[in-house]
Amino acid sequence: MSRIRGVIFDMDGVLIDAREWHYQALNQILVQFGLAISREDHLEEFDGLPTREKLQRLSARYGLPVELHGFINEMKQHYTVPLIHQHCWPVFEHQYALARLQRDGYRLAVASNSIRNSIDTMLTRAHLLPYLEFFLSNEDVVKGKPDPEIYLSAMHRLALAPAECVVVEDNPHGVAAARAAGAQVLRVSDPSEVTWSRVQAFITQCDGVEK
Ligand SMILES: [Mg+2]
Repeated sequence: MSRIRGVIFDMDGVLIDAREWHYQALNQILVQFGLAISREDHLEEFDGLPTREKLQRLSARYGLPVELHGFINEMKQHYTVPLIHQHCWPVFEHQYALARLQRDGYRLAVASNSIRNSIDTMLTRAHLLPYLEFFLSNEDVVKGKPDPEIYLSAMHRLALAPAECVVVEDNPHGVAAARAAGAQVLRVSDPSEVTWSRVQAFITQCDGVEK
């Protein structure tokens, strides 16, 4: 058995190609208040942040009234649901990757800045829940990524040390959170890069470096 004993996956942009859905759903409600996040700003700054953090940034920058945050957040979740049901399906490469890692004895979990209900819906529709011991959402922590809290919490629950964990992440906020938690970080650019061979090669590399 290798030194690495667990793999913690981010969800959006890693196991689920949901970044576009979050982008579209938030803009669907923001345009009703005369605002929209540009695709450039989404990719460079907003992607991977919890909705509440995105709204705080929009208020600081454009004066979006803070009293609207609750309503906008609720409507954003409302608009996300049909997009999930339209676009979220099982991906064989991800099922194979998680099944094989699990069979090889690795402990698997998900730590996401999304809300619990979205994670549950997406991972259920993608048929990935059977391979995971648990998932953590932004409702399970005080501070979302880039704070390391969610990864530290996942490692604590797995009873593994940071050096025993690989985190798979797709954006700077998540990478910062995972590094601050002390994990080995495999960065991918989108879900198509999340394959068994790539994750296993990274684990082998980590094992070789610090034996
Ligand atoms: Mg992500």
